[in-house]
Amino acid sequence: QMKPFVDGLKTVELDATKFNVEWVKLSNGNALKYEADKEKITIILDRVYKSSETISFTVKYSAQPKLGLTFVKPSTSDPKRPYQIWTQGETLTNREWFPCYDSPNDRATSETFITVDSKYTAISNGELIEVKENKNKKTYHWKMDYPFPSYLASLVVGEFAELKQETEGVPIFHYVYKDQLENARRSFASVPEMMRFFATKLGHPYPYKKYAEVMVYEFPGGMENITATTMTDNLVRDERAMIDNNDGLSAHELAHQWFGNLVTCRDWSELWLNEGFANFMDAVWLGHSKGQEEYLRDVLESQNTVLQRYKQGSHRPVATKRFYHPDDLFDENSYARPQVIIHYLKHILGEEAFWKAVNHYITVNRQRGLVTGTDLSKAIEDVTGQNLDWFFEQWIYKLGQPELEINSQYDEKKQQLKLTVKQLQKKDPEKPWFDVPEAYRLPVDIGITTSKGTKIHQVIINQIEQQFSFPTEEKPVIVNFDRGNYILKTVKFTRTSDELIYQLGSDEDVTGRIRAAVELKNTVYEPAILALATAAKEDKSSLVRLQAVDSLSTVKGEIVKKTLLAALTDSNWQVRQRAVTILGQFKDKDLLAIFQKITGNEPSYKTVNAAANALGLIGSLEAVEVLLELAKKPSWQDTLTRSALLGLSYSQDPRVLDVALKCAAPGNSRYIRSEAVEMLGARAKGNKQALDLIRMALTDKSSSLNYSALAALSEMSDKETLEFLEEYSKKTNLDPNLQKYAEQVVNQIKQKGAGN
Ligand SMILES: [Zn+2]
Repeated sequence: QMKPFVDGLKTVELDATKFNVEWVKLSNGNALKYEADKEKITIILDRVYKSSETISFTVKYSAQPKLGLTFVKPSTSDPKRPYQIWTQGETLTNREWFPCYDSPNDRATSETFITVDSKYTAISNGELIEVKENKNKKTYHWKMDYPFPSYLASLVVGEFAELKQETEGVPIFHYVYKDQLENARRSFASVPEMMRFFATKLGHPYPYKKYAEVMVYEFPGGMENITATTMTDNLVRDERAMIDNNDGLSAHELAHQWFGNLVTCRDWSELWLNEGFANFMDAVWLGHSKGQEEYLRDVLESQNTVLQRYKQGSHRPVATKRFYHPDDLFDENSYARPQVIIHYLKHILGEEAFWKAVNHYITVNRQRGLVTGTDLSKAIEDVTGQNLDWFFEQWIYKLGQPELEINSQYDEKKQQLKLTVKQLQKKDPEKPWFDVPEAYRLPVDIGITTSKGTKIHQVIINQIEQQFSFPTEEKPVIVNFDRGNYILKTVKFTRTSDELIYQLGSDEDVTGRIRAAVELKNTVYEPAILALATAAKEDKSSLVRLQAVDSLSTVKGEIVKKTLLAALTDSNWQVRQRAVTILGQFKDKDLLAIFQKITGNEPSYKTVNAAANALGLIGSLEAVEVLLELAKKPSWQDTLTRSALLGLSYSQDPRVLDVALKCAAPGNSRYIRSEAVEMLGARAKGNKQALDLIRMALTDKSSSLNYSALAALSEMSDKETLEFLEEYSKKTNLDPNLQKYAEQVVNQIKQKGAGN
């Protein structure tokens, strides 16, 4: 059903990829003329329609989607694989399985009827109206009465157990494999509180009548399909896996039910309004549920990711219309970057005004449901009276972040601290079409500490070069620029090692202490090494301890070793994991017993993984023995076996090839096979049995195995596999991404052959 926007509608175009259309009929039964091509169905209406009328018609079609809708089924190599169907519509792939207007800027309600064999459950958007039984079949009737954009439509079929919880009258369902209810109860216990917390924080109730998370096989992460999020079954964790995996993905997808689903980016260029807020809310949830340190950890990690990726050349503004395919926008510039920008925005506005503005943004835009950055800016202005266009202009629509250089000088006579701040950011000559702010406007907090205490000065930087003077009776012992680290930036602020040592030991601001530890990395100055060692052991923040451990990673000496060994019993698993990783780089046989002990009694899987890697680097016969034992231990999703294989991958011990061959064979889980297949790529060139196993993995129904097989073949670069690979890459029913990768490997092998 649809209504024309204006009078005079004669034809309707629907996105539909290569559909076989049987007929199109009006609701009165009259057939309509249509044309169906590779991309669209064009329907010629029986007459001209006015904007006051509703047009109702039915399309009967069949389709064989290559994208958008995935069938999963058991195979001889993996008989335990479930029968499933799941869909993934964002951005342009729901048109592969149902005809629709497939852009985010229009909405429709939906009703889905799905007939399946009785043992299956069928899940879609909205409420379950009824399940009709008919002999050995069931028909599920789902109805979503709140309009939504097409990319959020979902269909999942599988054999599921249902876990039901609720928050303030909203039922929350989790669909998991039947033998996983116990793990599901643990893994998703926090979702009701999450929903209550978000509703309170946003001042807006959860918008729909139900919520569900559906766990499916080999799903790429999570997708916020409206009222029915789809997620990877990896999220159903055992007790041990709960230690080093948080519920951030659930928080991210739940946050989307407001940001993305209730108010949707008007077009894909403004995707950040969906993803940036979802990432931000995920961090806010971690702060609420695990403490503010976890909020800060998330923000700092995101800042680092963004700066790292920028250095590597990932250059585009957060919002841009320059892209080939909307899928290209799903990178850190739509997720982590806007997350940390929103974090800074919150600081500028203050908690109360920020959340009021966010509430207003949702409330005034939910009717039409479409938003751009301007709507957010306007909502802030409505609530706070401040025009923040300058903020969005520089952070969202222009490229990069401030690159600052700071110099400080204390004038004893005038009793003044002088700070000179230069902005050095430049245009990217290879992308001259992206503007870079000549001078950012940056409200910033500067903490100045003397023996009398800390004073926080708030100033605004807004010029390319600027000088600030702060009255202070004595020479400051700490100058903490951007206290709290709210601003995404690079900063060069030269200070002496002694100044940094003092800051590391004494700054009340955690981010100030972290900054000092970062700048002391690679130090050879004995007092600095001692200060890092002390911080690694004694700082009350695990973020500082982690950074201190990290900053010692390239430093040699007994103190360092002692510090790292002590860090192995830190209460925080990230600190333990980092210490193991660094100790592993020493390749020190004397540490073997310690790593062995960790593989036996360390609770965090990720830390065990680091220990297995460390044993692999040692590589002695004894280390290999330990890893071979570890490989036999049963664990959640074969995590321990995979860790063991990682360690063994360094070894040339002949037994390792046997293990890899055994683990790559059909009958093992896809997790183990993937790992083993990649090992074979690195060590079994010319081995016929290995090649057969890799080929089997390549043609397996598991996409993760297919990718591992291609990685292995790429590693082998064996001309003998060329014919087979070429044939494979020309298959017509391949996932286009897999096909692209296969073609790459073919070309790589050919080029290598030509080089020889
Ligand atoms: Zn998302």
